[in-house]
Amino acid sequence: MNGAVNSMDDLSPGELDDFRRDVRAWLEANCPDSMRTPASDEDEVVWGGSQVSFKTEDHRLWFERMRDKGWFTPQWPTEYGGGGLSSEQAGILAREMARLHCRQPQINLGIWMLGPVLLEFGTQEQKQTHLPPMARGEVRWCQGFSEPNAGSDLASLQMKAVPDGDDFIVTGSKIWTSHADKSDAIYTLVRTDPEAKKQEGISFLLIDMASPGITTKPIELISGKSHFCEVFFDQVRVPQKNLVGELNSGWTVAKRLMQHERQAMAHLGDEGQSPYSLADMAKQYLGCRAAEAGAADSDATEIADAVMRDRVAALDMDDMAYKLTLRRAAEEIAAGDDALATTSTFKYYSTELEKRKNEALMAILGTRALGWDGGLSDEAGGSFTADELAVTRGWLSSKVMSIGGGTTEIQLNVIAKRVLGLPSADDSA
Ligand SMILES: Cc1cc2nc3c(=O)[nH]c(=O)nc-3n(C[C@H](O)[C@H](O)[C@H](O)COP(=O)(O)OP(=O)(O)OC[C@H]3O[C@@H](n4cnc5c(N)ncnc54)[C@H](O)[C@@H]3O)c2cc1C
Repeated sequence: MNGAVNSMDDLSPGELDDFRRDVRAWLEANCPDSMRTPASDEDEVVWGGSQVSFKTEDHRLWFERMRDKGWFTPQWPTEYGGGGLSSEQAGILAREMARLHCRQPQINLGIWMLGPVLLEFGTQEQKQTHLPPMARGEVRWCQGFSEPNAGSDLASLQMKAVPDGDDFIVTGSKIWTSHADKSDAIYTLVRTDPEAKKQEGISFLLIDMASPGITTKPIELISGKSHFCEVFFDQVRVPQKNLVGELNSGWTVAKRLMQHERQAMAHLGDEGQSPYSLADMAKQYLGCRAAEAGAADSDATEIADAVMRDRVAALDMDDMAYKLTLRRAAEEIAAGDDALATTSTFKYYSTELEKRKNEALMAILGTRALGWDGGLSDEAGGSFTADELAVTRGWLSSKVMSIGGGTTEIQLNVIAKRVLGLPSADDSA
């Protein structure tokens, strides 16, 4: 569902089977074994862009092989460096990658969010300039939407862009800009008509982070790792050809982009989801016993603690039901339905489910999940393992997922109004 933007003639079931066979064989031959495990830490994740770096040779190989297939962007047209796959083929590729537990070869906000809106709203020149480098993982984009007084109420943003010859002069600041200090470019919302109704005076502008007048300042996070920045724009000159969509129509472009953002977050991917199996962790930390007679596998074991067994089983069922629902949505997109309309539902459910799973992991590990950088005293059982430290950080990080991309409360408002059609306070005005 990564930007369902390309259309191809329907393939017959036989052709899709052939495609599945080819994909499976290619992945088996080309995905290095070490790339068939979840990324356990931030430095295991490859971010595209001019500063791309690879922790191991396998990371580099996997990145380059997928790039050369055009499979960073499987559904983008080949003329822009994409794989040219239909939705059905892209679904097969995603499922075959999941079957082998292949990691995403790179993460790039440009691909998830900006690319699909450029395909929809961009000029031919913008598509030719920006999409191919994105599809090759050469340019890293960040998102400059939020401002100190414009988060949930994004349309209150104040950063202004004033026309000056062939350029705009941009002045103001953005906050919570993820990875701004490592990005090559930023897509922003700017105020271009201060007199208009707030949504109607906003434009969508692409800005090169190397432009004179831009400074970034990292912000520390509770998890101990900082990817947030403040970005300051001091009279930054930006070519008018970098305007996406019409002047003062940026809100329409932004709403579409946020749908793609929520869709991407609903998927979470290997990097967003806890890589730990709740059942395995519970057996390891709380003990296990032989499964009751009649289990399909006679060697099977089950979590010894009955209360935790129920909790893990319920979470596993919710997880499975969610993944099946996602798959159904992918198939509906393939059949032409506009599943983007329900992205808030997916974003809401997946981020809340991830928080519940992380809470269960904390309960399973007990004091072993209270590690930070230092070790534990011997009475408490010695130093923390890397997995235990990762669980602690994962639990903290899971909290932010229900804030970024629009908070849980905002998703519930959107679901109430746009999905369920319930009246809102605005309607009574
Ligand atoms: C991990 C992460 C990554 C992020 N990355 C980026 C990024 O790259 N670029 C970017 O521009 N921004 C980014 N953000 C910022 C994010 O978009 C904002 O934090 C978010 O929109 C909330 O805005 P706020 O922090 O100003 O909170 P506020 O809007 O001040 O909200 C505070 C609280 O009030 C509640 N609330 C507000 N309005 C309503 C309402 N109408 N009804 C009910 N409840 C309401 C909210 O749900 C929240 O609980 C990121 C945030 C996180 C956590």
